Amino acid sequence: MLETPYFLINQNTIEHLAGELLSALRYRWANGIAGYSFKTDNLPWIIKFMQGAGFWAEVVSADEYRLAKQLGYDPAHIIFNGPVKEKGAFTDAVEHGAVVNIDSGRELDWLCGCDKAALDKANIGLRVNFCLEDYCRGESQCGTEDGRFGFSYERGELKEAISFLRGRGIKLSGLHLHCSSKTRSLNIYRAISNVAKKIVNEYGLDLQYIDVGGGFFGGVEGKPSFDEYFNEIYRVFSADGRLAKVNLIVEPGISVVGAGISYVTEVVDVKQTKNNYFAVLDGSRIHIDPLMKKSSYSYRIVKKDQTAEDAEREQTLCGFTCMENDRFFKITAPPLQAGDRVVFDKVGAYTLCLSPQFISFYPAVAVERGGKTEIVRHKNTAEEFIKSNS
Ligand SMILES: *Cc1c(COP(=O)(O)O)cnc(C)c1O
Repeated sequence: MLETPYFLINQNTIEHLAGELLSALRYRWANGIAGYSFKTDNLPWIIKFMQGAGFWAEVVSADEYRLAKQLGYDPAHIIFNGPVKEKGAFTDAVEHGAVVNIDSGRELDWLCGCDKAALDKANIGLRVNFCLEDYCRGESQCGTEDGRFGFSYERGELKEAISFLRGRGIKLSGLHLHCSSKTRSLNIYRAISNVAKKIVNEYGLDLQYIDVGGGFFGGVEGKPSFDEYFNEIYRVFSADGRLAKVNLIVEPGISVVGAGISYVTEVVDVKQTKNNYFAVLDGSRIHIDPLMKKSSYSYRIVKKDQTAEDAEREQTLCGFTCMENDRFFKITAPPLQAGDRVVFDKVGAYTLCLSPQFISFYPAVAVERGGKTEIVRHKNTAEEFIKSNS
């Protein structure tokens, strides 16, 4: 048995989600492209798995770009986004056929330094900044503080960027409209699609792709399905002369990995204080809630022994760190005992890569498939830790 705490990837679940997304996409866009968002979880096993499933790489930094190349991605299958790309990686990506979505003026300037012949074959997009809040009141992440990426449509910066490219004979291949929202609702994608339609027609653009970004739900009951999301977009695009033949790019992260990863912990001790009863786990909240914001968890308790049930009592489940706020939640149940396991489900997104090496080295990650378990990231020894930090 694996030593707790560890993350457990359920391969069937992510395979199912990845397959479901691709078939919903290709049903409407035969050549539709899905780029797996590296930042959601950059574990090499996951990236390779997504590559094998037919996903491109979606990267937002020079490090992620180099990671994609190192893991065997052809630059032509990399989508390079993000506000701070690094000139060398940017130029390499543009010249080797990556989809490069330009975020700001300095990247426009960098384009002028790229090889002319390569530029003719490049896939350059512009990230659009627009006020999502105007279309989906209360749903955007930043409200009237505005998102901070891309060229502002309302302020005319987007128009200027388009003119900049036209003036230099650089082909504009696409628009990128990823938005962060609080709700991940269908409204968001209707708004994104309508804004794309407005821009394409207002500026007379003849594009190869529209990239609507990520931000979907996946595998969450009661939430929109991939079919519903893509249908919403398709309804707008298929009815528009300029967009009916344009390819769709999506950049899923959480929707294809979130539901497929659990975190397995064990109760190591219980203790009673004047006012509380603590069950101490060998895992920590910092591993699955690194931003310390969660208010509810999806979890299962697996008892070590099925003894006669004691009376229920309130207990606080807490973690291994020395931080007082490393408390998961309270339950009212028969007292937990050392050896009982607490398994947190659906914790696959923004956890593996966001948790710190605080007090304990990164936990191991295992993959489960058909009853077999394989370790895909081992926990560092002190010696390995010293080596990779010297
Ligand atoms: C974070 C991000 C994604 C993935 O978002 P999810 O919510 O994990 O699906 C996709 N595209 C861009 C540009 C991003 O910044």
